[in-house]
Amino acid sequence: MVETTATKASAFLSSPGKMLIGADWVPSSSGESLVVEDPATGKSIGEVPAATAADVDSAVRAARAAFDARVWRGMPGEQRAEIMWRLSDLLIANLEELSHLEVLDNGMPIGFARYTILNAASGLRYYAGMCTKIHGRTSDVGGDLRFHAFSVAEPVGVAGLIVPWNGPLVTAVTKLAPALAAGCSVVLKPAEQTSLTALRFGRMVLEAGVPPGVVNIVTGVGATTGQALVDHPGVDKISFTGSTAVGKSIVRAAANDLKRVTLELGGKSPVFVFDDADLEAAIPAAAMGIFANSGQVCYAGSRLYAQARVYDKVVAGLEEAAKKITLGSGLDEATQLGPLISHKQRERVMQYIESGASQGAKLVTGGRTHGDHGYFVEPTIFADGRPDMRIVREEIFGPVLTVMRFDDIDDVGRLGNATSYGLGAGVYTSDIGNAHRAARLLDAGNVWVNCYGVTDKSLPFGGFKQSGWGRENGFEGLDAFLEQKAVYIQL
Ligand code: NAP
Ligand code: MG
Repeated sequence: MVETTATKASAFLSSPGKMLIGADWVPSSSGESLVVEDPATGKSIGEVPAATAADVDSAVRAARAAFDARVWRGMPGEQRAEIMWRLSDLLIANLEELSHLEVLDNGMPIGFARYTILNAASGLRYYAGMCTKIHGRTSDVGGDLRFHAFSVAEPVGVAGLIVPWNGPLVTAVTKLAPALAAGCSVVLKPAEQTSLTALRFGRMVLEAGVPPGVVNIVTGVGATTGQALVDHPGVDKISFTGSTAVGKSIVRAAANDLKRVTLELGGKSPVFVFDDADLEAAIPAAAMGIFANSGQVCYAGSRLYAQARVYDKVVAGLEEAAKKITLGSGLDEATQLGPLISHKQRERVMQYIESGASQGAKLVTGGRTHGDHGYFVEPTIFADGRPDMRIVREEIFGPVLTVMRFDDIDDVGRLGNATSYGLGAGVYTSDIGNAHRAARLLDAGNVWVNCYGVTDKSLPFGGFKQSGWGRENGFEGLDAFLEQKAVYIQL
């Protein structure tokens, strides 16, 4: 039989789901597993282990043993870089299979899945380069010849990486790559809905030559597996991406032993369309800024403010753009919008849509579920939103946009920052003054002008306010996995 992408993916799915602890692929010690569901059909497609606290303990012990044995942190940077580069090559060599698995597990369109896997590969390459560039500095403490004093950056230790379901592999690798560059050992916990690509990736980690124990992967639910990782005294740091509510609970738990914590949380990102903007470019870009990945993007531009003079035109243009979007199975190359992740998420989004209508927003398009299987929701636009509405205040994490008016640049900070979040913000204008002023007025970790959602490994990504703590990507992302030590040697 010819090995196609689909047969490779289904061969992986039919092999018993096991997780990676040390050098071994193991089931849950309780024998329990989680059902893996395809959100485009609602059908079960496989199983993964439901790790117990004892399994998490084994994974942390394996990570700790590897860390203490210095098998990875002690390896020359050039060699670690080579292994990380090899791992990125494996991601690319298996691009189609990984993308296929990501679509089956998460529902995202296949083109978007490929983009996320390639992005993960480029993250590994970016941080591979950092393995040879982790330096301290020297200082003539007390005048020259009195001390040899210097700082040295050391890996923080065992890091627990906890990720959500909306960009499963890329989010995991965004944490894993700097953790590996820093010399840490890790225990990764993917989201319960989307563990497949992490497990497939685990095989590549070993194949690339990462020493066993440096990367461990435990699958399971947050309340058990995730919580056990956060509570474990052998874990030095938690890097978390997910909801603000769980982020806060992690901070509380981490206070027990003062684990280091970085958090990438939710958002309610504003987008401003000035009347001088190139609307032909701005409108489709703003539409994809909310509807991409069915709105299940932390920086989705879910509040759109159009300057009064172009308000009607912007609403009409967005309606037209939304109606053109093709919904369907992510495996179909023509699909632009896949399903939401789960029945529960669809219920949540539909409740928000009902609240928008009942609080008096004007439904412009969408508002219904789509198809007779899977968890699809139509791209939905409300106009005439008000600041008190739930659809304007709360993160929906679905394909729902609310449009409102603004008058001039003075409104940008006042309206845009009227939220507890601060992850992303968008500005469409042809006036360079508006562009720069708005970029500085908005309290957000990422501001996009005449584009939306662009990210690059070289620049910090993260949130102001309740959108998180710390930054990923760039040198900042590496620093989050390092401790700084000052050494003074009296001469
Ligand atoms: P979530 O419920 O917070 O889950 C995220 C991860 O945490 C999952 O692996 C989850 O396990 C685990 N978890 C849940 N409870 C836990 C606990 N008590 N202790 C330890 N781990 C626990 O978030 P979600 O609903 O999956 O994802 C959507 C949210 O993520 C949105 O708010 C979105 O904005 C945010 N997000 C932020 C970014 C960013 O970079 N800022 C990126 C993507 C998503 P389970 O799988 O069992 O739930
Ligand atoms: Mg799934």
